[in-house]
Amino acid sequence: MTGSILLHGGEVLTDSGLQRTDVLVRDGEIAGLGEGVAGETSVDCSGCWIGPGFVDLHTHLREPGQEHKEDMASGAAAASAGGYTAILAMPNTAPAIDTADRVAASLGRAREISTLDIGVAGAVTEGRLGERLADLEGMLAEGVRWFTDDGDSVASAGLLHAAFQALHGNDATISEHAEDASLTAGAIMNAGEVADLLGVRGMPALAETLIIARDIQVVRATGGSLHIQHVSTGAAVELIAAAKEEGLPVTAEATPHHLAFDHTELEHRDPRFKMKPPLRTASDVANVRAALVDGTIDLVATDHAPHSEAETIGAGLEDGAFGVIGLETAAAAITTWLGPKPEVLFDRMSIAPARIGGFSRHGKVPVVGAPANLVVFDPTAEWVPTEFRSRSANCPWIGRAVRGRVRATIFEGAISFQDGSMSPREAHP
Ligand SMILES: [Zn+2]
Repeated sequence: MTGSILLHGGEVLTDSGLQRTDVLVRDGEIAGLGEGVAGETSVDCSGCWIGPGFVDLHTHLREPGQEHKEDMASGAAAASAGGYTAILAMPNTAPAIDTADRVAASLGRAREISTLDIGVAGAVTEGRLGERLADLEGMLAEGVRWFTDDGDSVASAGLLHAAFQALHGNDATISEHAEDASLTAGAIMNAGEVADLLGVRGMPALAETLIIARDIQVVRATGGSLHIQHVSTGAAVELIAAAKEEGLPVTAEATPHHLAFDHTELEHRDPRFKMKPPLRTASDVANVRAALVDGTIDLVATDHAPHSEAETIGAGLEDGAFGVIGLETAAAAITTWLGPKPEVLFDRMSIAPARIGGFSRHGKVPVVGAPANLVVFDPTAEWVPTEFRSRSANCPWIGRAVRGRVRATIFEGAISFQDGSMSPREAHP
């Protein structure tokens, strides 16, 4: 039970666009919409959009095993600051989340976090090693519905086929990191003129499209539900569009960084632009953006991948770790190029990921009686990211002006983040 909160002066997402109205939050729910309602705490939402809190289906929380990069608490704080009310933790921890017991342990830790919902994905294969299927049945029994060997592709068509058969009838999805490793060994960025200029090995678009094409054929044979992670190329977009046209159960995500940057960012050898899949060409960026806007790509997912300074800047481009953080900058990164399109922003960052990822208390247009999981977002605020609540700072937006900033995040009726300060509950647990 928390005191009532009035979100005052903003524009609220409705089924027919934004509408100027106040929002009263009480006892974890949206208790009133309209003028003349009053709350014990008032949040100034002038100039802001109010909509369902963001949902991330691709977060690396690094717990257990790599807590020097991030843990559930620091990742949760970063997520709240980014406007998220639910995130899905990837299973490539140390050890990998590949058994019912490990799922239960992670969910137990997640339940200790009172500021957002943390779901847990399970590995497809034991240890993510691509040799034998993991205990999919046991993890299903613990409630897991999202399976991935993220960091690597499911190693073979045979394993993917067997996994889809094992998951059949359970409303579960396999989320694929599409990278044919035989084409990317020793490579650190996109294959192309920038890699040639730097004299480093590149990853061809083919590494992504081969796996997507393989997976779509396995979906066609099994009826399994497939999600394609971090789409990076125009060629991948074409494959996904064709699969959807055919009516296959295929969904896809794009990351803020693949939507914002191309491979020329690496001309200065900055390891904060090194990730898998790599930043591609300007034409790929344009195609991925268009696919997100037209819905071929269903949603934005951060692939928030914390690494320490020693593992990134300190190691240099060639030896640095792959991956960047993104929870705290995602909405700004999207708004900066997308412009003021609230329906697109809230659908791709909240409504679609909540529906596809099964977060039933999230991703709904605000109505009276619904769970109060909300974000207050100022679409015109300009700012420069410099510091992070994440334990890591490997962020490509450091020092770059962006537009759009989270003013407040409401989780189950309580303020989990407001105006650059931690919530009172978080500061004094
Ligand atoms: Zn991945």
